[in-house]
Amino acid sequence: MDLRDLYREVILDHNRSPRNFGRLEPADATAAGHNPLCGDKLNVTLRLDGDRLGDVRFDGQGCAISVASASLMTEAVKGKKLADVEQLYREVHALLTDQNYTPPTDLGKLMALGGVREFPVRVKCASLCWHTLHAALESGRNAASAKVSTE
Ligand code: ZN
Repeated sequence: MDLRDLYREVILDHNRSPRNFGRLEPADATAAGHNPLCGDKLNVTLRLDGDRLGDVRFDGQGCAISVASASLMTEAVKGKKLADVEQLYREVHALLTDQNYTPPTDLGKLMALGGVREFPVRVKCASLCWHTLHAALESGRNAASAKVSTE
């Protein structure tokens, strides 16, 4: 399966039935992300479990790519060590923005997000949830709620 087919299939599937959609209440950290270019608005809530991301959910409204990316993200990061989540955040960011980037490890379904490089105006749609998660994790250390805008 080439990247274009994988992209279409995974984005369609995750947009149609988003995983981990909703909110955690109470949550250890939350963040609201906004991509003014497209109008995507996503909230990420999470719970910490020691040095791991115990649980994570997202909700909000956005285009197919922003929703599918958030769904893929929650699946990929749930239960992971926070250091590994940060590492994945950096790898996905590189995957989305650098044509020549090859991840050091197979990112599984997340590889499909690389297909967004063919549509540069959509890169911020795909990266929004990742920036929002990153902001939530940062805010968790300061016990404050974070806001992030991709502009
Ligand atoms: Zn969008």
